Amino acid sequence: MREAPAPPALPFEEARQIVVDTVRALPHPRTTETVPLDAAYGRRLAEALRADRDYPALRRSLRDGFAVHASDLPGTLRVRGELRAGEHAAITLGPGEAIEIMTGAPLPEGADAVVMVEHVTRVNGDVKIDRTAEPGQFINGRGAEARAGTELIAQGTRLDASHIATLAGAGRSSVPVFTRPRVAILATGDEIVALDEEPQPHQIRNSNSHMLAALVRRAGGEPSILPIARDTRAALDPLLVQGLASDMLVISGGVSAGKYDLVKPALCELGALFYFERVRIQPGQPAVFGTRAAKPVFGLPGNPGSSLVTFELFARPALELLAGESEPILPLLSARFEAPFRHKLGLTRFLPARLSADGQHLRHIPWQGSSDIPALARANCFLVADHDRESWNTGDSIRVLSKP
Ligand code: AMP
Ligand code: MG
Repeated sequence: MREAPAPPALPFEEARQIVVDTVRALPHPRTTETVPLDAAYGRRLAEALRADRDYPALRRSLRDGFAVHASDLPGTLRVRGELRAGEHAAITLGPGEAIEIMTGAPLPEGADAVVMVEHVTRVNGDVKIDRTAEPGQFINGRGAEARAGTELIAQGTRLDASHIATLAGAGRSSVPVFTRPRVAILATGDEIVALDEEPQPHQIRNSNSHMLAALVRRAGGEPSILPIARDTRAALDPLLVQGLASDMLVISGGVSAGKYDLVKPALCELGALFYFERVRIQPGQPAVFGTRAAKPVFGLPGNPGSSLVTFELFARPALELLAGESEPILPLLSARFEAPFRHKLGLTRFLPARLSADGQHLRHIPWQGSSDIPALARANCFLVADHDRESWNTGDSIRVLSKP
């Protein structure tokens, strides 16, 4: 056991920033694989995508209507014919002429505006337009969205649905992506049993390893669940060594002040450096972050609510950085209390809550503390009660962390 005094507990924002700064400075040896476009959603792009041509590749109409010379309006114009999307316009529009044009169709030479079909009157073969038009109106100029060669998606971006569209638009049927960081998950505790065992009343099923594996997957990592470590150094040490072979190690339990909380001294002897060992939050106060041989290591308190919140606040940004993200964000919404709410000053609390369907209103869900998985399951978010405010009235706003 170390003799040094315990370091001070940090506000969660500061602790999170330490994780980000520390992990950002670590070497990130990344490997790449190629996946089919339709399997690329949620993966991290390994090479920046550049526009393969001008977007759009020619001037296009943004509306169904008539292509005109703006200077001819108002007036009655002779209709030269029609242009559909997918047709090539080998026509030059002369003075006093219009051409019927569909959304997406290329604009003919000479035309400099499009008038919406709703704003014209057809008179025999002509169109009568009573209003003026701005040059350029309803025209998508060549290269207006992006010039050929412009970066469309940065390296490391996690691909969302719009990125899949962008890749498809650039003709990429296969996509280079970073391989997912491997994250080892180690549950500790004499009371913990695997799911294929029948727990005695004094035992608890290992929900954390499975919850953490889901969180790792969601954050873009590849989880591997290690066997449960009993609370002895003989059991714990070899499993820690095994876990440290992955890109990141997440441990649940064994980081509090109890006699059998052995994770910190064991990690210390394996050469880990700790950056914080306490955070001023509840649940999750004893959360630990360190590195060992340039790999992030997290010791999360074992109660499921604590593990969930501290993973989201601290382990997730580390994993995102390893995965290729450059700027991990913690999205906090804001909502208004539907009923008065109080808590004790001193710690920032992340408490299970329910956000209304319109996303505006919030109700605290009563819970028995951070072991209360049923309350977590009923919640759809966490309210974030600041450490320095004691009470909120109905209608007061509060920050909200979405539930992963
Ligand atoms: P600890 O952080 O080791 O003091 O654990 C605190 C409490 O968290 C334990 O008493 C258990 O009730 C619970 N716990 C610890 N590990 C797990 C786990 N793997 N799955 C579910 N609950 C756990
Ligand atoms: Mg324990």
